[in-house]
Amino acid sequence: MLKLDNVSVKYGSFTAVHDINIEVNAGEIVVLLGSNGAGKSTTFRAISGLNKPSTGEIIFEGKNLNKSSADQTVAWGIGQCPEGRKLFHAMSVEENLRMGAYVHRRKKDQIKHSLEHVYELFPILKDKRHDPAGSLSGGQQQMVAIGRALMSKPKLMLLDEPSIGLAPLVVEQMFEVIQKINKEGTTILLAEQNANAALKIADKGYVFENGTIVLKGTSAELFANDEVRKAYIGA
Ligand code: ATP
Repeated sequence: MLKLDNVSVKYGSFTAVHDINIEVNAGEIVVLLGSNGAGKSTTFRAISGLNKPSTGEIIFEGKNLNKSSADQTVAWGIGQCPEGRKLFHAMSVEENLRMGAYVHRRKKDQIKHSLEHVYELFPILKDKRHDPAGSLSGGQQQMVAIGRALMSKPKLMLLDEPSIGLAPLVVEQMFEVIQKINKEGTTILLAEQNANAALKIADKGYVFENGTIVLKGTSAELFANDEVRKAYIGA
């Protein structure tokens, strides 16, 4: 479904991501592990069309994403849930959700259907749909960010650090919902520092260090790997 072939991304003369290869098959949950600054968000930004690769190719369902704009990638079926949620705090929960359907220019009944789906996944958001997004707890704001990404009915969803700043119980609930979204047919590419939670739901993963991929494997392989355990699981 998605293939990154020898992709590098630069900021000016600084190479943030160097020569990476990633493959995501339809139906999978794939996790990118790595500490702060390792290059996960830069990789997401390249897939989303926000940073152009300096070398290599990004192919999504046969289409080359190297030169596509961010709106185009959404229209082609890539939904984004960025790090830090990036909500409009003064706008209501429902207005934030509706923003996710805007780029795609979806029909009224499709938007209604997607809204109902988001409220089914996150019933608390229905209760709070008229509240300003900024008044919600961190976990609820993360639900809005995931819900907003779902409003474009993506085939592939990019989720950048959904667990950041959340209490362990909330993280657990969040990952259960991510798994449910996947079972309903959305392929997931997830960036996480919480390897323990992410590897439990992922099929496979890639480990980033200083902008390169130093390790890849199935979740079971990565979970059993000493380096991964030491660096990201704390065992
Ligand atoms: P984090 O979880 O902190 O976002 P990350 O793994 O997503 O970490 P990136 O944000 O992709 O890492 O950063 C990779 C490298 O690129 C880091 O060295 C970072 O300082 C640098 N970088 C990120 N954004 C920019 C930018 N806009 N300009 C210059 N350098 C940047």
